[in-house]
Amino acid sequence: MGTLVARGAEVVVTMDAERRELRRGGLFARDGFIERVGPDESLPRTADTVLDLSGQILLPGLVNCHHHLDQTLTRNLPAAQDAALFDWLRAHYRVWARRTPEASRTATLVGLAELALSGCTTAFDHAYVFRNGCRVDDQIAAAREIGVRFMVSRGSMSLGQSRGGLPPDECVEDESAIMADSERAIARYHDPARGAMLRIVLAPCSPFSVTERLMRDQAALARRHGVLLHTHLCETLDEARFTQERFGLRPVAYMRELGWLDSDVWYAHAVHVDDGEIGLFARCGCGVCHCPTSNMRLASGIAPVREYRRAGVKIGLGVDGSASNDGSNMLAEARQAMLLARLRRAVRPGEASEPWMGAREALELATRGGAAVLGRDDIGALEPGRCADFFTLGLDAVSYAGALSDPVAAVVFCAPQRARHTVVHGRPVVRDGEVVTVEMPAVVREHNRHAAALLAG
Ligand SMILES: [Zn+2]
Repeated sequence: MGTLVARGAEVVVTMDAERRELRRGGLFARDGFIERVGPDESLPRTADTVLDLSGQILLPGLVNCHHHLDQTLTRNLPAAQDAALFDWLRAHYRVWARRTPEASRTATLVGLAELALSGCTTAFDHAYVFRNGCRVDDQIAAAREIGVRFMVSRGSMSLGQSRGGLPPDECVEDESAIMADSERAIARYHDPARGAMLRIVLAPCSPFSVTERLMRDQAALARRHGVLLHTHLCETLDEARFTQERFGLRPVAYMRELGWLDSDVWYAHAVHVDDGEIGLFARCGCGVCHCPTSNMRLASGIAPVREYRRAGVKIGLGVDGSASNDGSNMLAEARQAMLLARLRRAVRPGEASEPWMGAREALELATRGGAAVLGRDDIGALEPGRCADFFTLGLDAVSYAGALSDPVAAVVFCAPQRARHTVVHGRPVVRDGEVVTVEMPAVVREHNRHAAALLAG
């Protein structure tokens, strides 16, 4: 892999313990790990890879904690454009179940390319529909091809409509097959090492699409192998009604019954929670992935991010599925998080005394915050010993003109710009604004063919 020096940045946002911001500097990395971060005069001039960052701002790579890359095939589906979660899911389940392994490959490449172009260097994908020959292996191969750091779930759905679940029976899997394939995916792919490019997560989809038994069995399997657990929780009030009717419990209480309140678990959304539940998350060490765009798109609600932060809950950001965001742009997500936290002040009278969410806090959620949620201390900041995962933005963009009195805040306040360079583990994935690891125009053409075929049925 060799050495890399990136120097000459106007501003370096380290997100280190002191949240230092440096002028005129960069970093030096060897074999994918940062050895030095500092002003230009402290950095070597030559290396195997040299990036000139003049006129740019250098930031830690963004960490996406919740996604469904396969949904890139069904963005903006007319039947699901104006629907809340349950109807939106019903409009999609059968289409997703029909996708092919080749379609899944192109969806993963397109989604990860879009993320990389927005500064994202680590993505977690909550894959959970495995029908029609699709396996988690399809996505893993694609992630390796493009070179984005990847965490992916061997997720699952097992509770079909005939047994009281939401998904159609033909979209769910047999539980013994799910358990066997989960074990296979962990054995074959999970890398617990520092700097791992690939980790497996176990992620039954949601309380209304898997059984109680599968939740317990997946937790036991994950803990035997030291892999993390993840699921959707408290996304909508429909979900709370479902667990109340079926189990007589609110979703968080149901999770507690199942042994799912622990530091190896993080939840997507966690919008509809009360103060007691926020306190429980904090005490148990559960993480939360806030998905502001998706929560707005599906009219799900506004997550209590401020309360989570104050309680000490680990919290990061996710773009969520491409079909409930219609984009995979992490910089846009950081901006949405900041704006939505402000809207919450207006609609909740008690919020008025809270401090505003600032641009730096939004960037922190998207970097250090996400790293903590994914159980990693090797990403999320630029400092020696962490992975050389970073991105840069050109400060000469039209959108930043007039905003350079505070270039760091401009990155969040102004319209999201395309990354100039995105580097993962010391390897450029985006260079001069283009993905360089995969021939994207051909992939996009192929992806659009798969998407059209999928909708044609
Ligand atoms: Zn989701």
